[in-house]
Amino acid sequence: MRAHLRKSAGLVLRRYDFRETSLIVILFTEKYGKIRALVKGIKRDPRRFGSRLDLFTLNELVFYARPHRDFDLVGQAALLDHFGGLSEDVGRFGAAGYVTELTHAATVEHDPDPALFQLLVSTLQGLEGAQEQFWLMRFFELRLLKQGGVLPSWACCAKCRKTLSSPYAVFRFSERAFLCSGCSGTAREGLVLHPGALEALSQLSAQPSADSQDAAAETPEVRRELSAWLRLLVDYHIGQRFRPLEFLRKCAHVAEARHPSVSGAGVL
Ligand SMILES: [Zn+2]
Repeated sequence: MRAHLRKSAGLVLRRYDFRETSLIVILFTEKYGKIRALVKGIKRDPRRFGSRLDLFTLNELVFYARPHRDFDLVGQAALLDHFGGLSEDVGRFGAAGYVTELTHAATVEHDPDPALFQLLVSTLQGLEGAQEQFWLMRFFELRLLKQGGVLPSWACCAKCRKTLSSPYAVFRFSERAFLCSGCSGTAREGLVLHPGALEALSQLSAQPSADSQDAAAETPEVRRELSAWLRLLVDYHIGQRFRPLEFLRKCAHVAEARHPSVSGAGVL
């Protein structure tokens, strides 16, 4: 079967050593979606490639797509951006790990998604200089869910159609819809979001990009409610419990201990 020459920008989502001198990388490419590729001899002669294909790096790739083989083959990789600021802070690094792992979990191979690619690149750029990661990660989750077509509307109550307002709204996961406090009954079965969290959700959703953070009236409660709601939907979207979150929690905990002034309500 003939190999097809491809050129595209691509981000390194994962990388593994392969034998003495080679690597296996999982790349999220702009034009061709996620691919698995072999990089022969890169550890013996990294200069030949122009990039070491480190984790989270953005590269201009030339590769050979090999249908019916386990791996494509990388021919050249020129480094475009290594997002150097990510490695300076464990919280940023953990957040970068979170969004790249989430991208990996939410995509299948050979299914191009340029919008998600751009979202991932802009999120990594935003994280690089971020004092904290909370809103960048929430923005990423929100956009991922929206692009995946699984973001429910919070414009009004699914039952009576009234605008959701005080004292709270209830998200019923079984219906994936919001009910107002009047329609939700007394049992409060579901996830409760107060007006502050709904307002923050609207603000975040209206932002044009990940780097324009202007989340106004935030409190620890707003953060907790938003995180819980988005996590529920992210788990639903990728169809499994998302384990890297646990890893990120540990990183965030370390980051907060080092930067108590920005800890707020915690990263998650
Ligand atoms: Zn209602």
